[in-house]
Amino acid sequence: MSRSTMKKGLGAVMMAAMVLAASASAGQDFVIGGARVPSGSRASGALTVPAKDGVGTEIPYTVIRGVRPGPVLALVAGIHAFEYPPILALYRLKDMIDPKALRGTVLMVHIANLPSFKKRTIYYGPDDWKNLNRVFPGDLEGTMSQRIAAVLNAEVVKRADVLLDMHCGDGNEALIPYTYWMISGDKAFDAKTRELALAFGLTHIIIDDTRGHDLKNSKYLGNTAILQGKPAITTEVGYLGRTDEESVSRNVRGALSVMRHLGMIAGAPEPAADPVWIDKYEVVYSKHDGLFTPRLGMGYYVREGQVVGSVTDYLGVWREDVKAPFTGILLYVIGTPPCNTGEPLFEVGRVKDK
Ligand SMILES: [Zn+2]
Repeated sequence: MSRSTMKKGLGAVMMAAMVLAASASAGQDFVIGGARVPSGSRASGALTVPAKDGVGTEIPYTVIRGVRPGPVLALVAGIHAFEYPPILALYRLKDMIDPKALRGTVLMVHIANLPSFKKRTIYYGPDDWKNLNRVFPGDLEGTMSQRIAAVLNAEVVKRADVLLDMHCGDGNEALIPYTYWMISGDKAFDAKTRELALAFGLTHIIIDDTRGHDLKNSKYLGNTAILQGKPAITTEVGYLGRTDEESVSRNVRGALSVMRHLGMIAGAPEPAADPVWIDKYEVVYSKHDGLFTPRLGMGYYVREGQVVGSVTDYLGVWREDVKAPFTGILLYVIGTPPCNTGEPLFEVGRVKDK
């Protein structure tokens, strides 16, 4: 299938999926991981990630099955499990949503990457040191991260009509809230994901056309959903391993607003009133192992060539001043000392002219 054919097909596939889900959800059980969830009820459980060499894991989830037909919305937290506010937000949401008042189904993944959560790792899973959000669509025969990705794809992405991949600054990242609006190239489909990005309500929205179009190497959860015709966004709210109320409640509000946008619960969505669109972004990576000392914080505007921070070696000797590659806003800055060659130091976003 050519790329243009595939792109044209995305909208139609999505519409078919929505119609199918809407008709299927009226009175029928929702099936996940071998469990059946009747309409008008909620159920929690764990998906099994098969063991290899004696080591497996599970993925805790909750399904809330509305009494009336509507889309299946997947809310996924903890792909990076040192990112706590989205994880805490879903526990709160679980008790806020009444299945009797719900259209469609909410499928929550509480902690996608449980091994990382248990061992408190940033970026990587502790079993294979892979970044779960770079190994989709995964492989059931592969390493732990690859197997988790494969289970998430089979049990969550494939059962969802719309997906929110909920992140925040990792344990070492000072980050301002923002949303990735991932561009598929299909105009009608991208209009839907644009509305989704707006509905989540964050002011800063990255127009992201950098994700690949090959499902076999989709890398990211959100991209994996999009390449299978399911509108998805990636959200980032929270930072530095904190559990601050503002970040947790912002995640709750974003998810509820998306549910209202999709007509799943009563009330009007709270879209971003005057969004700041970011049409180019770049993550600047460290060229050295050592310590990073930021000179500027998250949310600062920087000029091209302005020093954002400096790197010293393990003896405290200066190695490099790290500069902004272009003028823009600091979306995140590493906020703890360790820096390693090839790992992020900061991300700059260029603000689009209105
Ligand atoms: Zn993340």
